[in-house]
Amino acid sequence: MSDLTQPIAQGFAQNIAQIVYLISALLFLFGLKRMSLPTTAKRGLSYVVIAMLSAVLITFIHREVQNNYLWMAMAIFIGGSVATFLTKGIKFTETPKMIALFTGLGGGSAAALAAVEIINLDYLSDTVKYIALAGALIGSISFSGSLITYLKLQGSIKGLIHFPMQQWLNALILVVAITFGVAIVLNGGQADVTSLVLFFALSLSLGILVTISISDADTHILIALFNIFTGIAIGLIGYVLLNPTMMIAGFLVAAASLKLTLSMTKSMNRPISNVLFGDEATDDYSNLSLDSSNTNLIARELQSNDAAMMMAFAKNIIIVPGYGMAVAQAQHKLWEMSKLLIDKDVNIRFAVHPVAGRMPGHMNVLLAETGIPYESIYDIDEINGEFDSTDVVLLIGANDTTNTSARNDQNSPIFGMPILNVDRAKNVIVIKRAEGTGFSNIDNPLFYQKNTGILYGDAQSVLGKVVGELKKL
Ligand code: NDP
Repeated sequence: MSDLTQPIAQGFAQNIAQIVYLISALLFLFGLKRMSLPTTAKRGLSYVVIAMLSAVLITFIHREVQNNYLWMAMAIFIGGSVATFLTKGIKFTETPKMIALFTGLGGGSAAALAAVEIINLDYLSDTVKYIALAGALIGSISFSGSLITYLKLQGSIKGLIHFPMQQWLNALILVVAITFGVAIVLNGGQADVTSLVLFFALSLSLGILVTISISDADTHILIALFNIFTGIAIGLIGYVLLNPTMMIAGFLVAAASLKLTLSMTKSMNRPISNVLFGDEATDDYSNLSLDSSNTNLIARELQSNDAAMMMAFAKNIIIVPGYGMAVAQAQHKLWEMSKLLIDKDVNIRFAVHPVAGRMPGHMNVLLAETGIPYESIYDIDEINGEFDSTDVVLLIGANDTTNTSARNDQNSPIFGMPILNVDRAKNVIVIKRAEGTGFSNIDNPLFYQKNTGILYGDAQSVLGKVVGELKKL
């Protein structure tokens, strides 16, 4: 190529890259919009995959990556292989752990990009340097904090660590880290490496210190919170790199995660300040001993033929799935049973609590997987007024989300958490294996009510028996 045509070709390539970045960013927007509905979520996800793939591939023609193709290909190959290996064998219930890990790696990547920009580019304006430092700080906190969350969910770290003046220490570390950041910018020229190392060391330790003080019971909120951090960090670095895809995708992730965090804290009636700065009443469910007030109470046992009879002759049934249904993978049997009841003219509805299961949307995904029409699935606000006029409520491996002590017992660790008003139905049938408690490790008075009967056993096999009985009727 001649000396004259080379810059023209390069300029053309850069324009193409910017256009593809912009199209990718728009695809992220459309994809996310579609992911908000179960019926269009799959298509939304494919838009996001295409957007990500195009943004990564077009980067190969970017001016600044010339001569680094081998490094880029190696990074994609190693990262892709590790991600495939890690996600291939995991159970659905382990997804939060992987989300924590990938959130952390996203934050770490943003922080690493920021470090490169700050070290090498003394021609950055001071404002852009501050933005890069903010991205680095937030990304580092998300990186170390998410990795600790991953280890907590893995079971490698248990419980929480509290020590005197902990919040003050965290505040001090934050202030000192910001001071080093400001010093780096004010010094001008190339960044002082010692200040930069200290800045990152403090940011990373802040992520660790904040996370170890948060209750295991709140780890799912923490994952959403770190997702906000990673999104912001990527958005800020996108601004520094003048990359619209990174900017839009990052801030979209942050906004979506903020909505999720707020929805989860609302569902559990836990202000975010309680999650972050501790709340003795709910500090760590796993350390609570079981509520002994119900030890003299005996739950009434039901047989599958009784349950089948009750449901076959009911007009309205509300089905409440929970974590136990996910563990037993009982959703397909559940739908088989529901279809038999629908054939008998029973009105079947499904009630999903926002924190049922072990991750946001857990139950919606499982129910949608079976083909249950989305119109039959109701959230807590839509259905809570309907239980009083319901003949039978069938609880499948759900516990905390229906625990009446959250409404009636001020001393309960989950007091104030909104629950599904299952106890108000005429009859309640509960499927569970034995006397096990739920995630909060507390007993549920609902199980000892006069109108409650328990079908003991693994949800899938119990539902199989009920299906058998229904076919006989
Ligand atoms: P719970 O965890 O409260 O209860 C699960 C119930 O399922 C237990 O009573 C258990 O009793 C039963 N069970 C377990 N395995 C089986 C099985 N194979 N067959 C039948 N029953 C079974 O579930 P919920 O969905 O009601 O509540 C979710 C809890 O998880 C809430 O406390 C929520 O805050 C928390 N959480 C939610 C997250 C989210 O994002 N959705 C994330 C992290 C935590 P038994 O042992 O007797 O069978």
